[in-house]
Amino acid sequence: MRNSIANHLKIKLTVALFAGFCLGCPAHLWSGEPLRIVTSFYPVYVAALNVTAGVPGVVVSNLASPHIGCLHDYQLTAGDMRRLAEADVLLVNGAGMEPFLGKVAEQSPRVRVVAVSEGIPLLENNPHVWVSLAGARQQTANIASALAAADPDQADAFRANAATYQAALSDLEEKMRTALAPYAGTPIVTFHEAFPYFARDFGLDLAGVIGREHGAEPSARELADTVKLVRARQVKALFAEPQFPDQSARVVARETGVPVYSLDPVVTGPSDPVAARGAFLLAMEKNLEVLQEALR
Ligand SMILES: [Zn+2]
Repeated sequence: MRNSIANHLKIKLTVALFAGFCLGCPAHLWSGEPLRIVTSFYPVYVAALNVTAGVPGVVVSNLASPHIGCLHDYQLTAGDMRRLAEADVLLVNGAGMEPFLGKVAEQSPRVRVVAVSEGIPLLENNPHVWVSLAGARQQTANIASALAAADPDQADAFRANAATYQAALSDLEEKMRTALAPYAGTPIVTFHEAFPYFARDFGLDLAGVIGREHGAEPSARELADTVKLVRARQVKALFAEPQFPDQSARVVARETGVPVYSLDPVVTGPSDPVAARGAFLLAMEKNLEVLQEALR
């Protein structure tokens, strides 16, 4: 009799300890469910796919569909809110890219929100930090740390994947630095404010940015000023983006005779995870080719 009471107490104690332990850990660890990671937009999706490649029990999905681009004006849909309600971790760019984080905190308080640009010094509060291979490396490290905290059993796998991806980013950066060194100080004009980190990294002179955000049509005055600037600074090339109409770039090109090329900030790309994993490196390789063609 005494034995059975002791056993009963032991079971109760074990259950209490187990429950107490698990109350403090992410739900997926004791529910047997996968670690559900949602990324806010394409660049974060690509980095998260690299950090989680081949790691079992992890599901990565992207909130904004891959053709949306930057999230400056993005509004969460009912479908997004449903997805966030089931997510363990929401990886966002941060630095002001996602205007909807207040709503997430209010309506999906359970999801752990991680700003992957944490610790990256900003240029004039510009959120486009991933359009720099160094920025992309830091974001990758931040993602690995966040996922290691969310799923400690897989921490080594996340960190090893991050190191592999960071090495590939470093190799490409080295190649680009060497190839672009002859063009240091060359003035360029872009048509979205996505490239200050990129220009800084490669010593290009970002002489002007017109239509600072997607969808913002520059005024006639702004176009006229850009034409003046392109002539005065002897700008060699104008850079629009593949994702967006380039009418204003065409206007400036027609007025000045300076050609328009396309630089990709990698805010869109294939959604298939295998293709997406390599999409950032591929797009940056293409950017290098375009710059070499435009600036030679
Ligand atoms: Zn943007």
